[in-house]
Amino acid sequence: MDLSLIVPVYNEEENLPLLFQAVQAAMQPLKLEWEVILVDDGSRDGSLKVLEELAEKDTRHVKVVALRRNFGQTAAIAAGIDHAGGDIIIPLDADLQNDPADIGMLIEKLNEGYDVVSGWRINRQDTFSRTFPSHIANWLISQVTGVHLHDYGCTMKAYRREVLTDFRLYGEMHRFIPVYAAASGARITEMPVHHHPRKFGKAKYGLERTLKVVLDLFTVKFLTSYAKKPIYLFGGTGMSLIGISAVLLIFLFIRRVFFLVSVFESPLFIMAIMVAIMGFQSVLMGLIAELLARTYHESQDKATYTVRRTINLNK
Ligand code: UDP
Ligand code: MG
Repeated sequence: MDLSLIVPVYNEEENLPLLFQAVQAAMQPLKLEWEVILVDDGSRDGSLKVLEELAEKDTRHVKVVALRRNFGQTAAIAAGIDHAGGDIIIPLDADLQNDPADIGMLIEKLNEGYDVVSGWRINRQDTFSRTFPSHIANWLISQVTGVHLHDYGCTMKAYRREVLTDFRLYGEMHRFIPVYAAASGARITEMPVHHHPRKFGKAKYGLERTLKVVLDLFTVKFLTSYAKKPIYLFGGTGMSLIGISAVLLIFLFIRRVFFLVSVFESPLFIMAIMVAIMGFQSVLMGLIAELLARTYHESQDKATYTVRRTINLNK
């Protein structure tokens, strides 16, 4: 199988037949062995019924995973990936905001030698109240992770299957797949894709998603930068605090000896002691985190590196 399209579906009954037509039209000229995995994320309308009909009409290409309840877009995408058989994996939204006609172009780009091609909704058709927070979030993610993309939130991205095997997706994290992939050495690029306004059904998300995304960013940054060496983060913070405390204490000592000001004159002495204690605590937390990191990697036999290829080796 060359290509798996993954479509998360939540209350999209009117969009599904049109989506399938568009997918068929896009796949026709490509001459690929393909499948589309539609994941019904506990829809309350007739979506599952429509999916059953589509699957019956085209048993070769249409595959359906029906989740037991609504788990959210990220979980639906993860379920699709788990069931996918393609070497290339492209998720896209069911609401026709992404354009299946872009699939060919994404694959072409991928074949230039990339592992991830990230879609960029350059003419995004959403309200200002959606696009503005998203601009800020994109800027922030780019700065914090060092993986520079314009549009993390665009569902439509093309992945080589190998770069999707190393991690699980929680919360709102499908947008961070390129960041995880970059951390394991994937070659990443982006390209503009089309974006259309939603014609049928309702958008399921509002502003609160941006907040979740920012919280997820902490986790992703920690996992990709420090999961293997947490002591660098905690220990570094701890040592800095101990350093600050030492400077304060030296200042108080000099003031005491040369200017005869009692160290108890100001709250500085108590503060210095507290900062030092916080510093020691942080170093100790780093050591506990190191134990956890070992449990995490060794209990699951997770390697601390990823291999692109080997030569004259069978493994
Ligand atoms: N979706 C889903 N589960 C949810 C919410 C949304 O599978 O709980 C799907 C939805 O059907 C659509 C995609 O995720 O295919 C994006 O949803 P939406 O269009 O509401 O998000 P937006 O385009 O506004 O980011
Ligand atoms: Mg949408």
